[in-house]
Amino acid sequence: MTKTAKPENVVHVIGGGLAGSEAAFQIAQRGVPVILHEMRPVRMTDAHQTEGLAELVCSNSFRSDDAESNAVGVLHEEMRMMGSVIMAAADRHKVPAGGALAVDRDGFSQRVQQILSDHPMVTLEREEVTEIPEDWSNVIIATGPLTSPALAQMVRDVGGEDDLAFFDAIAPIVHFDSIDMDRAWFQSRYDKSTDGGDGKDYINCPMDKAQYDGFIEALLTGDKMSFREWEENTPYFEGCMPIEIMASRGHETLRFGPMKPVGLTNAHDGSRPHAVIQLRQDNALGTLYNMVGFQTKLKYAEQARVFQTIPGLEEAQFARLGGLHRNTFINSPRLLDEQLRMKARQSLRFAGQITGVEGYIESAAIGLMTGIMAASQAIGTQWAPPPVDTAHGALLAHITGGADADTFQPMNVNFGLFPPIELVVTPNGKKRKLRGRERKAAYSSRALASFSGWSSVTKAA
Ligand SMILES: Cc1cc2nc3c(=O)[nH]c(=O)nc-3n(C[C@H](O)[C@H](O)[C@H](O)COP(=O)(O)OP(=O)(O)OC[C@H]3O[C@@H](n4cnc5c(N)ncnc54)[C@H](O)[C@@H]3O)c2cc1C
Repeated sequence: MTKTAKPENVVHVIGGGLAGSEAAFQIAQRGVPVILHEMRPVRMTDAHQTEGLAELVCSNSFRSDDAESNAVGVLHEEMRMMGSVIMAAADRHKVPAGGALAVDRDGFSQRVQQILSDHPMVTLEREEVTEIPEDWSNVIIATGPLTSPALAQMVRDVGGEDDLAFFDAIAPIVHFDSIDMDRAWFQSRYDKSTDGGDGKDYINCPMDKAQYDGFIEALLTGDKMSFREWEENTPYFEGCMPIEIMASRGHETLRFGPMKPVGLTNAHDGSRPHAVIQLRQDNALGTLYNMVGFQTKLKYAEQARVFQTIPGLEEAQFARLGGLHRNTFINSPRLLDEQLRMKARQSLRFAGQITGVEGYIESAAIGLMTGIMAASQAIGTQWAPPPVDTAHGALLAHITGGADADTFQPMNVNFGLFPPIELVVTPNGKKRKLRGRERKAAYSSRALASFSGWSSVTKAA
């Protein structure tokens, strides 16, 4: 059907990652023909390993699925209300991960690819787009943090502004059968579980104080990958910081971060570990486990040497070692209008990580919004943004002007982006501040009620 549509009615989506796949699906569901241009496998990125749409390049987690008190969980739920293809595929291919939504990465990607390939309104073209023809009047650029250099240059030329850049780091993945379960054990923190599971979603490797001290020393002195000249002053995003950088900030920093021992008891001897390394299931078969929060820029040989000092990982076989990658994003508050169109060239919209949101689910959520905007333009209907007290509305508002353009950095969804709920009126008429979980619950329920109203008029039939 798309091949016979008039060119001016077609939406071109460039990039078949999390954002581009969701955008293409939302457009197609509204009866608008869409051409999805994905350069893999013709040209690969530094991080992708397959030609699959919506490939997850690092962790297999979409983070918290708690829609009652967590902003990420609220974003998940709002996406479900909109019939998101990313959420449908994630729910179908989830693997145990405590209160988080983690997926079998291959099953997930294959599902997204199958739905889009089978969709009568979608044409998938495997090619690198290096410039945008003038007769493409409705375009979404969703090429992600690893946008190919030629297209990045085109964006720079049009936007008139240099990209910013920083690094994400990949955490290593270990073969399950190489982990010594006589030393490690299965347990979720505080025995929390996914959907009636047994509270044993993570593998835990314990350390006593002497082992922890030695490990920190090994991280600090281990051989690291060096930066290229142009990368040297690139700031790290806090949520994806390499462990050796965290270790360099203080001897105890990791014990309060990814190696915190709280909520865990050694199943072999009943002791409380001084520090813990957790591994989370990475595929449906349960044959692969990733080292949670262990992004690193240690050299490959050093990673194997240092990580094999971890109790339980002495014989570890790594399916994938950690690594470093450049991240490309634009200064959205300065370059884009409220519909994510480039002010300097209105036929171009942006979606995903390149807009300066951070994370799989945030990228997909912006793809969902951009898809609806582009479809509205094609059909000739009015775009009404989601209310700012919703997770989608808060994220959109942030990147299209809420953030300070002079200090703009990528952002995860969090309640700090939502309009505040300062005071509540108690039954006896007094006003008081909400705190802690009660406050988060109030943000969540307000967002979901608000979004439900918006989605009922905006959702594709
Ligand atoms: C190394 C690394 C690790 C990350 N780890 C995590 C993590 O663990 N958890 C998390 O939540 N987020 C992570 N992120 C951040 C981010 O959430 C992901 O990058 C996410 O995939 C972004 O979604 P996206 O759709 O914007 O981009 P992508 O999913 O990268 O999709 C962009 C697509 O565009 C294609 N493309 C690029 N240029 C062109 C072109 N010129 N023509 C055609 N196609 C093109 C690419 O091949 C790719 O398929 C990581 C990022 C990186 C770089």
